[in-house]
Amino acid sequence: MKKLAEVLRDWEAVIGLEVHTELTALETKMFCNCRLSHDDEPNTNVCPVCLGMPGALPVPNEKAIESIVMAGLATNCEIQRHSMFYRKHYFYPDMAKNFQTTQGPVAFCMHGRLDLEVSGAGAAERPDATVEKNEDGSYVAPIRILRIHMEEDAAKMVHVGGEEGRITAATESLIDYNRCGTPLIELVTEPDLRTPEEARLFMEKLRQTFLTLGISDCSLENGSMRCDGNISLRRRGSTEFGTKTEMKNINSFKSLHDALEYEICRQAEVLEEGGIVYQETRHWEPSRRRTVVMRVKETADDYRLFPDPDLAPFDLTDEFVERCRARIPELPDAKRDRYMADFGLKRADAAQLAGDPAVAAFFEQALSAAGEKGAETVAKVMVNLVPSYDALTPAQVASLSGLLAEDAITFAQAREVLDAVNGTSEDPAAYVDAHGMRQSTDEGALGAIVDEVLARCTDQVQQYRDGNKKVLGFLVGQCMKAAKGSGNPKAFNKMLAERLEA
Ligand code: ADP
Ligand code: MG
Ligand code: ZN
Repeated sequence: MKKLAEVLRDWEAVIGLEVHTELTALETKMFCNCRLSHDDEPNTNVCPVCLGMPGALPVPNEKAIESIVMAGLATNCEIQRHSMFYRKHYFYPDMAKNFQTTQGPVAFCMHGRLDLEVSGAGAAERPDATVEKNEDGSYVAPIRILRIHMEEDAAKMVHVGGEEGRITAATESLIDYNRCGTPLIELVTEPDLRTPEEARLFMEKLRQTFLTLGISDCSLENGSMRCDGNISLRRRGSTEFGTKTEMKNINSFKSLHDALEYEICRQAEVLEEGGIVYQETRHWEPSRRRTVVMRVKETADDYRLFPDPDLAPFDLTDEFVERCRARIPELPDAKRDRYMADFGLKRADAAQLAGDPAVAAFFEQALSAAGEKGAETVAKVMVNLVPSYDALTPAQVASLSGLLAEDAITFAQAREVLDAVNGTSEDPAAYVDAHGMRQSTDEGALGAIVDEVLARCTDQVQQYRDGNKKVLGFLVGQCMKAAKGSGNPKAFNKMLAERLEA
């Protein structure tokens, strides 16, 4: 098969995601009072409602509605005041009622948008001119969200025995209804994504947003956040959509990227050989790095979707929506803008700090430990140094930033200090003093060295005055040498320039 970059020169990939998120932060299920927990003994958190006993009446979980409204507001959706629950019929033991309660054409949240910042190698995956690219190749991709609707999760099934990967007469199927009825929100994007990297970034941003809202633990690994990828190809320049396939079993960001990459290349090969892409559901096999057919797509008619007569339609009040809005903490985009304004950070750097709630919290702790003055240096250290270390504390970052801010150490020395204190409780300032690394910025002491160097290097001084400003570097080097490394290069630089320009 051809490589992704080659394929994407001739073909445009069209990708839409369907993302299911369990509202794990809630205490009870969607339509009954059973406890929400996946670690309990199987089939202990069950009742007539979630076991689908005839006559049992569902009662919607108000906290779940609050969560989905918050999710909708945080992703720029219109909150539909009037909507209702529908029954989506199918037969499978994971749903004892024989239908899933979900929403119909109108969901609580409709027509939202998330903007993706795409940069670096990922940005090069999109070679077309349909987005405006910055000088460095980065761009912003606005991704429309079709809807976010409320539904319930099914029970968990485990198949044991039989042939590998297939259910046969010898298979034993075990079922745990603890998960059945878990509040679940499904977000569906418009087919606006164009590269595997954009799909990955979308999932990441959505996860960051939901984590910030505190509505779910958003674990792709444990399945509390799950994603299906829909993908089709069309010739560059064409405006019609091709036939899509849908990919299941994506349980990591890497899988999402790799499965889409594989599927793009597979479809290109089929189409280039004159074949046709069938609308089917495919399964990603990470170990073999390929997708295989699961089933041919069922059509919506098969589900016999109709309004659930047991559940009254909703008419959300403005007051309810405003109450949800008031509970939304500062979101990653707003945080990014604030970091840019307050600390003079570049957009990508600010986004890097604001994106992950844990990183943002670390940053803000380091800031308060450093005090107002060191803010910009703390930000720089967070962006340029901290990502290389896994066990620093906010206090260590604050201390190190203080040393850099007062020019007591160079950037190169900062790395040396962090290598040493990472994973310990040692204070960087104490380390620097203990190892005699602190550099002088004292104008008096350094001034004598500067004067000595200027008196000695008359040729270079003349060259500088003739317009060759580059010799300044040589002169700084001479000062550093004379000071035996204990003078600060920035301070030398400044003092030399001042004297030469005078
Ligand atoms: P289905 O009825 O098969 O589930 P939907 O219209 O509900 O299809 O769309 C499901 C997802 O597939 C959405 O995220 C949508 O953006 C995406 N999608 C729709 N058409 C295409 C296409 N031609 N190529 C890629 N993705 C598509
Ligand atoms: Mg669908
Ligand atoms: Zn129950």
